[in-house]
Amino acid sequence: MYLPSSTRYESMTYDRCGRSGLMLPAVSLGLWHNFGGVDAYETGRAIVRRAFDRGVTHFDLANNYGPPPGSAEENFGKMLRDDLAPYRDEIVISTKAGYRMWPGPYGEWGSRKYLLSSLDQSLRRMGLPYVDIFYSHRPDPDTPLEETLGAVATAVKQGKAIYAGISNYTAEQTRNACRILRDLGCPCLIHQPKYSMYERWVEAELLDVLEQEGVGCIPFSPLAQGLLTDRYLQGIPEGSRASKPHGFLKSNQVTPERIAQSQQLNAIAKQRGQSLAQLALAWVLRDRRITTVLIGASSVEQLDQNLGALERRDFSQEELAAIEKILM
Ligand code: NDP
Repeated sequence: MYLPSSTRYESMTYDRCGRSGLMLPAVSLGLWHNFGGVDAYETGRAIVRRAFDRGVTHFDLANNYGPPPGSAEENFGKMLRDDLAPYRDEIVISTKAGYRMWPGPYGEWGSRKYLLSSLDQSLRRMGLPYVDIFYSHRPDPDTPLEETLGAVATAVKQGKAIYAGISNYTAEQTRNACRILRDLGCPCLIHQPKYSMYERWVEAELLDVLEQEGVGCIPFSPLAQGLLTDRYLQGIPEGSRASKPHGFLKSNQVTPERIAQSQQLNAIAKQRGQSLAQLALAWVLRDRRITTVLIGASSVEQLDQNLGALERRDFSQEELAAIEKILM
């Protein structure tokens, strides 16, 4: 029987998500890769258990995570039954709908029909009566935002989700989404954008809007899917995401230019007594508008290393300038 560590709340820090009452851990764990039907259940289970043991109280899923789509939610449902169910009230579980999940015209994007059916399916797969955060996974250019976000607000009013979130919305769409959700009496809790040293659009466009609207920010792929770790410093190793046929990091994204940049960043990390992954995570967390950083991990060792980022979060002006020069 799993008994979580009694010291699990001693080293993690928790920040308020926007202007809400919800506190989130500085590091959240995502189940996009490594937790599907193609992966070893016991490895994923060990990662989730260790995460909870170290104060990671937030687990991020989506209808389509796997592969096959849906299998990450099924596996997570089993982990809840096997280990975490007694601690449900200590855990924040998120899911999303927006990408293709089933055939036909109602299996993706942003209609009310799709979102509400998808959430019901997610709840069945995980064996839960409700999730904590339900996201519109992406804006739908052909559906009024009022319909998409109205469906998210309905899920909250039905008690099938506690909070509403959006992901991959532009700054302007975010402003509109926040207004619509506020008018529906269901304020937007959180935005989930892609953000890392290698993907910085949020800095100029999104973060000010989130601050003004009182919405939290949970960047995904803060390690650029592994490019900002020591994984690819010497090419593409077997077993890595870029080596797998179903991995979303393609081998042609592991370019000599990126590897050279990562090597230079790795030198700065070393000077700070950190790994490259730890540097990259601390760097994302340097902005107080970032509520929590949403990592992936394929082993307990990676998770442990990444949580080590929290031991050194401060940056000198010189370090920031040196990083900026590499990223230019
Ligand atoms: P990361 O950028 O953190 O990449 C995680 C991958 O990097 C791991 O699977 C592993 O790859 C490698 N890695 C992690 N830590 C280390 C380490 N210490 N040393 C070496 N390699 C390491 O995040 P993800 O791209 O996985 O995204 C995180 C989460 O964000 C997802 O699970 C999902 O919940 C969410 N997400 C949301 C999206 C959205 O549209 N809203 C889109 C994408 C993700 P390897 O397998 O090679 O070991």
